[in-house]
Amino acid sequence: MISKLQIKRILAAASSVWPKPVSRNVILLYHAVGDGPWAITNREFRAQMAWLRDEARIVTLEQALQGNEQPGLQVAVTFDDGYRCIYENAFPIQEELGIPGAVFLNSGLVGDQTRTPSDVSKGHYPGESFLLWHEVMALREAGWTLGSHGSEHLDLTVEPDAIVRSQLLGSKREIESRLSVPCDLFAYTWGRSTSHLRALVAEAGYRYAMAGYHAPVRANADPMGIPRINIAREYSLSDFKAIVRGDWDYLGWSQRAKDHRA
Ligand SMILES: [Zn+2]
Repeated sequence: MISKLQIKRILAAASSVWPKPVSRNVILLYHAVGDGPWAITNREFRAQMAWLRDEARIVTLEQALQGNEQPGLQVAVTFDDGYRCIYENAFPIQEELGIPGAVFLNSGLVGDQTRTPSDVSKGHYPGESFLLWHEVMALREAGWTLGSHGSEHLDLTVEPDAIVRSQLLGSKREIESRLSVPCDLFAYTWGRSTSHLRALVAEAGYRYAMAGYHAPVRANADPMGIPRINIAREYSLSDFKAIVRGDWDYLGWSQRAKDHRA
């Protein structure tokens, strides 16, 4: 039996023959780095970051959202959910290589002293636990960007407006008061949005909202549906290189249709 991953690789190899634009601007989406069952290992993550440092211009998320005027590959690195392993594993590797990062926090799951364990039934990664506020503060002081992923990890495409508004505004206020920075970036849970949810996110005061599908960030991108490319544990280093270069962008057409509803 040929696996789904093998089919993706075959289609990617076929699409790699198309000429590439001279300039490419991508935002990568990670969740966990380390020993967790769905996490990318430290070794793989380091190899990916080292390749990016050599082959791309690595920028902050804010810079990526401003576009890419220069020729070549521009990349920003982001994480969703806000697991402890970002601070313990990804952060030291990125510090060593001089790579900035961004984390979209579930503000209601970040603890002061006590860690919240992840809960698979709520869509978290298995075997992880969430950051503490002093760790989030250390990331901010190191120049990382902190955005909102809601207070809890709810699917906001199906919740009533009152809950959606309290998730959007509550998390924004908490991040702003804890970190003394404006919080105007949001990431949809599971990358899912509807036109109604996108309007509520804008109404809550967010300037940009992140989705999750394979595509570069184009100059005319909808600010309420910025594409990010998910990097999964199952990808080899050569898959990763092909994904960043755009050979897997063909996947974006169906992913976007599935997650980005009218
Ligand atoms: Zn999430």
